[in-house]
Amino acid sequence: MNDWIERESKVYIQFFNRIPIVIESGKGCWVYDIEGRRYLDLVAGIACVVTGHSNEFIIERMKKQAEKLIHVSNLYYTKPQIELAEKLREITGLDRFFFTNSGTESVEAALKIARKCTGRKKFVSFVNDFHGRTMGALSVTWKEKFRKPFEPLVQPVAFADFNSIESLEKTVDEETAAVILELIQGESGVYPADREFVKRIFELKEKFDFLVIFDEVQTGFGRTGEWFAKDIYGFQPDIIAMAKAMGNGFPIGGVGITEEIHGRIDKGDHGSTFGGNPLACAVSLATIEFIEENNLVKNSKKMGDYFRKRLSELDFKNVRGYGLMIGVTVDDANTFVSHALKNGVLVNATSEKDIRIVPPLTIGKEEIDFAIEVFRKFDKR
Ligand code: PLP
Repeated sequence: MNDWIERESKVYIQFFNRIPIVIESGKGCWVYDIEGRRYLDLVAGIACVVTGHSNEFIIERMKKQAEKLIHVSNLYYTKPQIELAEKLREITGLDRFFFTNSGTESVEAALKIARKCTGRKKFVSFVNDFHGRTMGALSVTWKEKFRKPFEPLVQPVAFADFNSIESLEKTVDEETAAVILELIQGESGVYPADREFVKRIFELKEKFDFLVIFDEVQTGFGRTGEWFAKDIYGFQPDIIAMAKAMGNGFPIGGVGITEEIHGRIDKGDHGSTFGGNPLACAVSLATIEFIEENNLVKNSKKMGDYFRKRLSELDFKNVRGYGLMIGVTVDDANTFVSHALKNGVLVNATSEKDIRIVPPLTIGKEEIDFAIEVFRKFDKR
């Protein structure tokens, strides 16, 4: 193991603080390191691998498409892209879609569309929101540590306090092109928006005529016990940004918009070489079909409720979230992650005190019970 870690330290750009294991394979909710140790994966590639590792249905469909056609660019029509857009229309209720290769690119597309359609420049985002690392998405990302070294970024951007109606009212105005938000803040540790807060955004939208962008990169595709977090809240955005679970870990993202917005877009406003290629779209379609056929949205809700109930039996502060997007607060998140790792469970620390749990949506009670017993030992460490 150490040999590989040493080799990485010489050739990889050191952007990440990594967990010191080299993962070689996976099956379902479990992954295996190169020494054959197994771990229950409650990270799922950061909320991506919704149908489980090495899912045979997905692999078959991936193989079939790869044998036929991998890439031709958006200069041509391909069947999987059209089928995926039709499917997304069904599950999101939005009208038209464009495909990208990541979450940050989906946010970039959303911001560009918002500026083009409104003719306005200003974006409003929220304290603790995370939207990605490219220049536009980074501009609407809260954490100063991420933003500061790369200024000047896209301007003007104003950050309102999350869940503060008073702060929101002071921040939006007639110059606002769009309000962008995560309905459940993921990278900051799974903190949901209040319904009243979201409702007020939509009332202010009526008054000032800005667009609302829901960043559902992390919350989409069944993660929260609904297809999308917007279904929990009952509000429809003008623009939705998606990625992560969309391809079960295969890189694909997307942006969805209303027909009304589409009427204000011109050819050439945006583009991508790889975005929405036939292989990525076929994998995404297979992922959505697997979620549908195996009732994974329902399982996410049911197992999420069970997981939270069991976590509440332990000594955690503030067990929260929806479906299988779960956050808990501990005194020292890094020590907790190390304890879990040593005992065969992968969890992710999003801050010094916040733990995020986002397993494959195929997880069952037995696996949850396994995690709970590992966490219980931490109580008595
Ligand atoms: N938006 C949200 C809500 C995210 O959670 C993330 C990634 O964690 C992103 C955007 C950026 O996605 P990516 O890392 O695929 O660029």
